Amino acid sequence: YDESDDGGADNVNVVVRVRPMNQRELANSEETCVQFPGEGQLWMDGYGKDPRPKPFTFNVVFEPDATQEDLIEHSGITRLIEMALDGYSCTVFCYGQTGSGKTHTLTGSPGLKKDFYSEDHGLMYRSFVYLFKCLDQTKEEGVTYSVRASYLEIYNEQVLSLSLELARFNSGQVKDLLNPNPSQRSLAVRWSKRQKRGFYVENLFTVECAELDDLIAVLEEGIANRHISGHAMNEYSSRSHAMLTVHVTREEKENDEGVYISKHGKINFVDLAGSEKTKETHCVGQKLVEANNINKSLLVLGTCISALSDPKKRDGHIPFRDSKLTKLLADSLGGNGVTLMAKSLLTLRYAASAKKI
Ligand code: ADP
Ligand code: MG
Repeated sequence: YDESDDGGADNVNVVVRVRPMNQRELANSEETCVQFPGEGQLWMDGYGKDPRPKPFTFNVVFEPDATQEDLIEHSGITRLIEMALDGYSCTVFCYGQTGSGKTHTLTGSPGLKKDFYSEDHGLMYRSFVYLFKCLDQTKEEGVTYSVRASYLEIYNEQVLSLSLELARFNSGQVKDLLNPNPSQRSLAVRWSKRQKRGFYVENLFTVECAELDDLIAVLEEGIANRHISGHAMNEYSSRSHAMLTVHVTREEKENDEGVYISKHGKINFVDLAGSEKTKETHCVGQKLVEANNINKSLLVLGTCISALSDPKKRDGHIPFRDSKLTKLLADSLGGNGVTLMAKSLLTLRYAASAKKI
């Protein structure tokens, strides 16, 4: 987010990336359903009774030929990294249907390549390079920074809405991608007010990263573990959120008596579960019932964001506690003094409803 002091900080940016057509779409000679009329603008072809194109406005729109380099340069993420260094909690999340390019955008695809300059490297890798570049350049007297990282996954947190009365909740599992254990029970999400810690995952492995390579190793380790645990990768990743968190602590020596002031910032990178609804069949008593299987965290995330975007609801109850994901994102979405602006949040809702983007 942006700490502009114009009264209404514009602290959610919505960036859209339209992926190129895939082999199947090309083979079927499918036509693109979006147009790019100008900066930040996207038109979606109308359908059904209303053939007029639907206009959408976002902070940035990336066309299919945009490179990974373009994304780090023009998405505003470098600004978030600077803010994390300054003690803010920030989040980058990728939202979209399975196959829309979330993992490609965040981690690169088909996976990481060792080559430092690989064009494939996604936003996380590039953000880490930028973070350490910033750290190397800030040589302030008496200031030290430390970086720690964790990587977790929230799997299968869903609402099975058979019908309203029958809605069942699957509370999902939190798994440590840096310390996997097949029989591992879900790690607990807890809350603590000590050192303003807020929600955290108990016993989550956190790695000290003295240099860039340590952070890259965390990324590689987590990606590798994510692959091992998922048999049918697409099926699996469509139900799980993977979240890598980089914590940055800045300590400044206040005076010669050894008084330190410290700031704690962080940046979360979240590869969200697929936004599609999946139909599933469940047994209810003697009957087989088809259920709309909605990812609970995504549902709650949407509710929290729309509440935060409504000036009448913003200061009231925001249901962060209703899902594991939103608990862990609570401080970066609704933290101290953060005002969210409706304009960009509305666009996020548009993004959610505009299928195929
Ligand atoms: P998701 O994580 O949203 O399910 P993926 O990132 O796995 O989707 O993308 C699905 C496929 O499309 C992958 O094979 C990926 O390499 C390809 N893909 C997605 N976005 C792009 C892009 N911008 N450029 C090239 N290939 C892409
Ligand atoms: Mg994916």
